[in-house]
Amino acid sequence: MPLIDKHGRPITDLRISITDRCNYKCVYCRTGTDGPAYAELAFVEYLRMASIFVDLGITKIRLTGGEPLLRSGLTNFVRDLSALRTVEGTPPDIALTTNGHLLEDLAQPLKDAGLRRVTVSLDAADPDLFARITRVPNAFEKVVAGIRAARRAGLDPVKVNCVLLRGFNENQIVPLAKFARQEGVILRFIEFMPLEEDRAWSPEKVVPLKEIVDTLNAYHPIAEIPHARSETARRYRFLDDQGNEQGKAGLGEIGIIAPVSMPFCGQCSRVRLTSDGKIRTCLFSIWDHDLHEQIHRGATDAQCKAFIQEVISKKEARHHIGEPDFVPASRTMVHIGG
Ligand code: SAM
Repeated sequence: MPLIDKHGRPITDLRISITDRCNYKCVYCRTGTDGPAYAELAFVEYLRMASIFVDLGITKIRLTGGEPLLRSGLTNFVRDLSALRTVEGTPPDIALTTNGHLLEDLAQPLKDAGLRRVTVSLDAADPDLFARITRVPNAFEKVVAGIRAARRAGLDPVKVNCVLLRGFNENQIVPLAKFARQEGVILRFIEFMPLEEDRAWSPEKVVPLKEIVDTLNAYHPIAEIPHARSETARRYRFLDDQGNEQGKAGLGEIGIIAPVSMPFCGQCSRVRLTSDGKIRTCLFSIWDHDLHEQIHRGATDAQCKAFIQEVISKKEARHHIGEPDFVPASRTMVHIGG
C-alpha cells in the first residue's frame, strides 16, 4: 500500500536528519550559543526505518541535519541505503543537504557509495559576509572547494541553496547568480521561514519571489522553465543560455522556493525523520511521532508500517505562516532537518 495522506497526497520523499549538531552557526538559523538538543541513533536504526519507509513507497531519501557530514560512517550508510529497493525494484534516489564545509574530501567517496545528488547551502558570494553569516572564518573557500569537488565527482545535479534575509544578504542575489553562471550549478533562493532558534522571524524579513525575479531580470533576463506540479521550486533559465552538450542549462539555472509568498503545501510529498527517530509530517508540526520508541519496544516491521500509515494519514493540510493563528513549530530547523 503506498503512503497517501487524508488529503490525497502521495508521500514519496523521506528526509532523514542524522544529527542536529552543526559546525556552522548561521545567524538566521541558530542562536550561536545553543548546541545539539536531541539524540543521534546508530546508522543501523536509521537503515531499518528507511527500509520500512521504502517498502511503503518512498522513492527519494535525502540525508540532512544539523550537518550530516559531521557523522563518521556516513559513506557506509549511503552504501547500505543504495542497496535498498523501492517498490519498483530500483535503488532509492539518494540526496544530501550539507553546508559543504567538509565536502571536498567526501564528495567522491559518497558518489562511489551511491549518492546521486547534493544540495549545498551558500548564503553569500562575498567571503566576508559569508563568514559573518556562518560565524566561521574562511568558510567560503571551503564551501566553494566542496561544490567543485561535488561536480568533479559527477554528483548531478549540484544545487546551491541561499536563504535571503531582508537587509542582510538580499544584495547577494546578483553576485550569487553570477556564481551560478560561472560554476554551472543550479542556484535556489529560499524564502526565510519562521524556524529559527531565536524566533526573530517577521514578514518584513522575507524577500519574496517577485522581488528576486525582478532583481535577476534587471541583471540578466531570465525566462521561467515549465515545471511539474510536484516541484517545490519555480525554475528559471538565463535567456542567453543555449544549453550544454547534454541539453541541460549550461549557464546555471535559478530556482525560487517560496513557501511564504507562494506556499506549495498542496503538492507536498515529504515526511521527515529526526535524528532521534521521530516522524514529522510537516516542518511546522507542533508534535512528532516516536517511531524509535515503537522499534525500541520490539515492534515488527508490519507494526511499524501500520504506525507510519496512521501517522501519515494525519499529515497537516498546510502551514499557517504569517496568519494570526500561526503556532510555532515544536522544533526549529536545525533540530528537524531541512
Ligand atoms: N547543515 C546543512 C546545510 O547547511 O544545508 C543541512 C541542514 S540546514 C538546517 C538545511 C537548509 O535549511 C539550509 O539550506 C538552510 O539554509 C535552511 N534553513 C535553515 N533555517 C531556515 C529558515 N528559517 N528558513 C528557510 N531555510 C532555512
